[in-house]
Amino acid sequence: MAWEGGRFVPEPEITCIDCGGPASLITPPPGPDDLPWAEGDLVVYRCRDCLDRWDLEVPAPDQE
Ligand SMILES: [Zn+2]
Repeated sequence: MAWEGGRFVPEPEITCIDCGGPASLITPPPGPDDLPWAEGDLVVYRCRDCLDRWDLEVPAPDQE
């Protein structure tokens, strides 16, 4: 989870908190004509191994 140049860029994959398996991003990224990610938006991952769903909130932008 990182902000780059004023736009939020979610990691394509995280580690499942329950089983340690790979959890892939299933929220489609905003297209070029859409609003970019904003603080508080939900970024959803699903674990490949245990199929748990992880909803992460976009954090506040880094303070420069
Ligand atoms: Zn898992």
